[in-house]
Amino acid sequence: MDLPDDLSLPLDRGAPWWYWLAGRPALDFVNTRRERWWRNVETLVTPDDLAEWVVQAGLLTELPPVDRELLLSALDLREAVSLTTDALLARTAVDDDALHIIEAWLPGAHLPDRLRVPRDGSQPVLSPGFPAHPGRYALGLIARDAAEMLGTEQRARVRICASDTCSARFYDRSRNGQRRWCSMQGCGNVAKARRHRARHAK
Ligand SMILES: [Zn+2]
Repeated sequence: MDLPDDLSLPLDRGAPWWYWLAGRPALDFVNTRRERWWRNVETLVTPDDLAEWVVQAGLLTELPPVDRELLLSALDLREAVSLTTDALLARTAVDDDALHIIEAWLPGAHLPDRLRVPRDGSQPVLSPGFPAHPGRYALGLIARDAAEMLGTEQRARVRICASDTCSARFYDRSRNGQRRWCSMQGCGNVAKARRHRARHAK
């Protein structure tokens, strides 16, 4: 997944450059820092970017209030997930600080229970309540997704795109677990064309 070479950096707003092919929020989130192999393009630029991202990711239905402090925390969490994912892919030692950052967000994924009588009923119903801080709740959900991915057997399905010039991380949900490219239309196609050219150049 390439960005235009002549992109003016740093970006003012990141939203036009998000992509969604990682198969789960934790890795779509990691992928908001693009071209990690080259320009390291930040696409969570403003607090509004983060608010919009968590809605587009399906974590919240309404834009949450986000300030700069929460944005910085989100970037910390993202890089912690990225570091831990990279250690998994490279089979190197996991960074303890990164794990602590992810772990610290886990309680944020829980909603307080509610026990209320619904408007049309007489018996109380137990249901999940609303987050006091929706933005923090969304980060909790991302951390929870990352922890499930990295801390269970799901880790065997974590991948990085096989292209040398693509830093997309993704979760392989294919039946045989052989997915190599972030997308068949993008990097997969480029590789296919390259193989084709190599074969016919002989
Ligand atoms: Zn790719």
